[in-house]
Amino acid sequence: MVKTDAQHALKLRFWGVRGSIPCPETENMKYGGNTSCVQLCFRNQKGYLILDSGSGIRPLGVSLEEDNLQHKGHIFITHAHWDHIQGFPFFKPIYDEANQVSIHMPLQDSGDCKQVLTGQLTPTHFPVTADMLSAKIDYITQPPEKQQYDGFSASFMLANHPVTTAIYKIESEGFTVVYAPDNELVPVHLSADHSFRKELIRFCSGADILIHDGNYTLETYEQRRNWGHSAWEDATQMAIEAGVKHLFLTHHDPTSTDDILDARAKELQQYTRHFDSIQLTREGLEYTF
Ligand SMILES: [Zn+2]
Ligand SMILES: [Zn+2]
Repeated sequence: MVKTDAQHALKLRFWGVRGSIPCPETENMKYGGNTSCVQLCFRNQKGYLILDSGSGIRPLGVSLEEDNLQHKGHIFITHAHWDHIQGFPFFKPIYDEANQVSIHMPLQDSGDCKQVLTGQLTPTHFPVTADMLSAKIDYITQPPEKQQYDGFSASFMLANHPVTTAIYKIESEGFTVVYAPDNELVPVHLSADHSFRKELIRFCSGADILIHDGNYTLETYEQRRNWGHSAWEDATQMAIEAGVKHLFLTHHDPTSTDDILDARAKELQQYTRHFDSIQLTREGLEYTF
């Protein structure tokens, strides 16, 4: 994906849209089998900007090198579950000493960004160890408050998920993207305490783009309470209340085949009047805003 031109605020591409584990079976190829990874390119941004490093970050790294954009950038990781970090050791730009990358993650119970990310680089798990990554890597334990970078800012609120997980808000020149791939919304009729939901609605209020967990349906959610994921219908309802302009439902369950997701995409059409657009994320699709 090359840079955004002067006419547009943002170019966005989905490199991985699955939750839990890659599932590259033929029945999943339309929506894709790679785990969480999104690339953002704002008009005045310097360097690349990546959200999560699931398996989708591998082909993204290849594409950056093809476009000669691999030298400098940021990776914002929501949390350290496998499906959000497993692609990191396969991100080619970290193996070239000419490159520089900042990796951001909220503090985890088991350690800071560096400890958690390099913790998977031990001989038991992988032949490459952290000292073999030649690029200049800044491991940043990210604070929730708004931080300013080259051409964009980032802040986060905590998700409802079994581990410390960020819901990132990335802003540039008044354009806002909220990224919440792993977040459990409890449907209003199943909970007495609505404070988290209200906080999230405030956080997402008026966002140009919301990319939200839609792992389950309301029906399958009932059996998966407290697993840390949302029913797509409820995520959509929340996005309507927040006045989001474009909604992308993501973190598709590995059991959600193309047929299941195609049927869901049809169901989404009943909500089109509430949004400028509403859709399921699909690997490889690129959008310009
Ligand atoms: Zn996940
Ligand atoms: Zn997770």
